[in-house]
Amino acid sequence: MAEKRDYYEVLGVSKSATPDEIKKAYRKLAMKYHPDVNKDPGAEDKFKEINEAYEVLSDEKKRASYDQFGHAGVDGQFGQGGFSGGFTDFGDLNDIFGSFFGGGFGGGQSRRQANSPRQGNDRVMQMRIDFMDAIFGKTETVSLEVDEPCKHCHGTGAESPSDVQTCPHCHGTGYVMTQQRSMFGVIQQQTVCPECHGTGKKVTRACHECHGKGYEHKRVKLDIKIPQGIQSGQQIRIPGKGERGQNGGPNGDLYIEIHVKPHSTFQRQGDDIYIKVPVSAIDVTIGTKIQVPTVYGDVELKIPEGTQPNTKFRLKGKGVKNRRGTQGDQYVEVEVEIPKRVSKKERELYEKIRNGQTESPFERFKKAFK
Ligand SMILES: [Zn+2]
Ligand SMILES: [Zn+2]
Repeated sequence: MAEKRDYYEVLGVSKSATPDEIKKAYRKLAMKYHPDVNKDPGAEDKFKEINEAYEVLSDEKKRASYDQFGHAGVDGQFGQGGFSGGFTDFGDLNDIFGSFFGGGFGGGQSRRQANSPRQGNDRVMQMRIDFMDAIFGKTETVSLEVDEPCKHCHGTGAESPSDVQTCPHCHGTGYVMTQQRSMFGVIQQQTVCPECHGTGKKVTRACHECHGKGYEHKRVKLDIKIPQGIQSGQQIRIPGKGERGQNGGPNGDLYIEIHVKPHSTFQRQGDDIYIKVPVSAIDVTIGTKIQVPTVYGDVELKIPEGTQPNTKFRLKGKGVKNRRGTQGDQYVEVEVEIPKRVSKKERELYEKIRNGQTESPFERFKKAFK
């Protein structure tokens, strides 16, 4: 047997630790190294060491003896120097094992949680909507399946309240104690009552509407109001249309996650809308007026003389109106298109313009070298 570590060191507490501090430290470590959850090599030995330390330090007499004589003061109690005891003395530590074996990490609350009403889980649905519907809002009807609490029995599954009795098997606690042999000795554990499945209740006459299930499985049509200005990734909450609750608890909520389809012309960033429009070199050279599409219809935009390629113009307030009442803008980027081919007539006109130019950009560039 290797040299034993100091029990206080094992639990990571000081020599003057209170029983409460010792218990807390032990719980934390026991959770961490329990062989059911920790599969690291060495976790099992560590777990044994922790339990041995705790058995001594949690017992006033053993602790006093250990403080006075060290391991020699308590070793005799562990057979051949090892730990062979069970957990049966630990009493209130059942909650640790209850949470390991009883399903779910509820600690001391697991007993109460088993048969008290619990809200169902939320669920999430994805919905793809058109670009314009995201801007102006829309009501979309969806059909979905949902479990709703039975109206006749209000989720109890019993024909009348007098048809609900306390489970005789677990006496209403929802749990039963069982003993299991393991390498650490006998472990006393809580398991969910097999008779009532943790509800603590027994229904003697089932509800005639839902046949004891407590809920009705339905296909329902819902009108989903999509607010104006919604963006991809945002969610709409529909209360009570999630998964069904337990023991008469309310349903969870339904979240509808919105995905906005892209538009062929408009692009959106937040509440602003972007659009690119092609214009001719003449339009930007001498200026013009164009009718630019916006989500609200065409709007006149003045392109001034001498506008440079890729200039962005702002159409104030032509972006997305959001729910907060503010409004984005639309940005119009002009893309100058150079014709790939010109007609004979156009060529003559272009040549006339060229001959009339006082100085071409290239001539100006060459002059800089002289
Ligand atoms: Zn029961
Ligand atoms: Zn019912």
